[in-house]
Order: sequence, then structure tokens, then C-alpha cells
Amino acid sequence: MRRKLAAGNWKMNGTAASLAELEALKSLLPADTPDVVICPPAPLLFRATQAAKGTSIRIGAQDCHMQASGAFTGDISADMIADTGATYVIVGHSERREAHEERDRDVRKKAKSAWAADLTAIICIGETLEDHEANNTLDIIAGQLAGSLPGEMTPTNTVIAYEPIWAIGTGKVPTLDQIVEVHDFIRERITTRYGAPVAELIPLLYGGSVKPDNAAMIFQAENVDGALVGGASLKAADFGPIISALA
Ligand code: PEP
Repeated sequence: MRRKLAAGNWKMNGTAASLAELEALKSLLPADTPDVVICPPAPLLFRATQAAKGTSIRIGAQDCHMQASGAFTGDISADMIADTGATYVIVGHSERREAHEERDRDVRKKAKSAWAADLTAIICIGETLEDHEANNTLDIIAGQLAGSLPGEMTPTNTVIAYEPIWAIGTGKVPTLDQIVEVHDFIRERITTRYGAPVAELIPLLYGGSVKPDNAAMIFQAENVDGALVGGASLKAADFGPIISALA
């Protein structure tokens, strides 16, 4: 059975006071809770791991450097993230790809550096609005899968998040048919490259304007194993119902 996962990406939002939302989330977790990961800004990682102690909530970072250490002012290595007690890291988020000009090759290296520190990499892929409108989605996704996923990927070291860029933070969500089409395609591609045992177990998340009122619709897709949630993960009152919809 594939594990289900709800991951919250706080992006560049929140200070120590925001950890009250993590505290509040604890009491909203359903009995048969799926895996839950909160990815706060880096300065909050250690405090978040302390706040999550004794619960099933795991903590992740939003990015890591591809090198283990060195002269990279302002960057954070995977080892440093693991040292806070965090166990996940998002790599290749479209905001990093765009604002920091990260390419598939960089994402692949970051995933490997995450693994070297025993972190699970949440590898993000997704097409632009232009590619979506030109019906290029599957070609773009095929290219990103080929370029961003390292050959040594396993269901325990990696989670894949499909996030159409045009759906992130916009309130626009693909139709269920579109979500099904892309997620089925991703699972097929992984089967071809890694074999059925890997493909059947690797969690595939959908990301892009997931909210309490559309989560159940999205989770109907057989090959959607959870969500990567931005805005609606900031408040326990929003993220809790999304987690419950997955349970
Ligand atoms: C994200 O940042 O990964 C994301 C999906 O954001 P939102 O849920 O706000 O669209």
C-alpha cells in the first residue's frame, strides 16, 4: 500500500509565533492520519522539530544546497537541515526554478545531496501556463522527470509533487480529468524507468491551490497520494480539513 502524505509549504511566511499553528494542528489530526510534513522557513526548522516531538508530524526544509559544505554564503546544506531534526526537504519548487534559475540538473543534484543526509526529497515538477495552453504538459513533465529524478530514486528517499505552475497561488485548479491524466502519466513513466516495485510505492502529490473545499475532489484520483499545499497550510483550520480529506 502506498503511503499518503500531506505536506505544507509555508514559503517565506511565519516567525516563531506561527508555530502556534503547528501546535493547533496536533489536535486536528484524524485518528488514522496520513503522513503530515510541515516545511517552515529555515530559521524555524529546529523549533518546529521541537514543537512536533511526540506527534506524527514531520518537519521539512524548502530547499537545500547541492554541495555538502563550502563557500556558499547564505545557503543551507542538507546536513544542516538534518541537524535540526528535520527529515524532508523540498527540491525544485517552481519558485526556486524561476527566481533562482534552478534547472533539472541542479534539482537532481539537490535530491542526491538530500539523500546523502538521510532526508527524503520532495521533488517538484510542473508546467507553465503557456505550456499548459499549448498542450505541451506531458512533454514538459516527461522532460522534467528525465532530468530531475536521479537514477537511484526509491519510494523511501523520494516523493514527487506535480505542481502546475499556473495553479500555484492562483486559485485555479486543473479539472479532475487533467489531474488524473498527468498523475497516471507520471506513474507510467516511473514504471518504465524504475520498474513496477518502485513506481507502485512512490508517493505522487498534487500541488496548486489545494483548499479544504477542493481537496476531496483532487484526492479521488487514484494516482494522487496526497498534496503539497502552500497558502492553505499556514492555518491549522485550513490544513486540518485537507489532511482529514486524505485520511
Ligand atoms: C506551493 O507553493 O507548493 C503551492 C502549491 O502553493 P498554493 O497551495 O498556495 O497554490
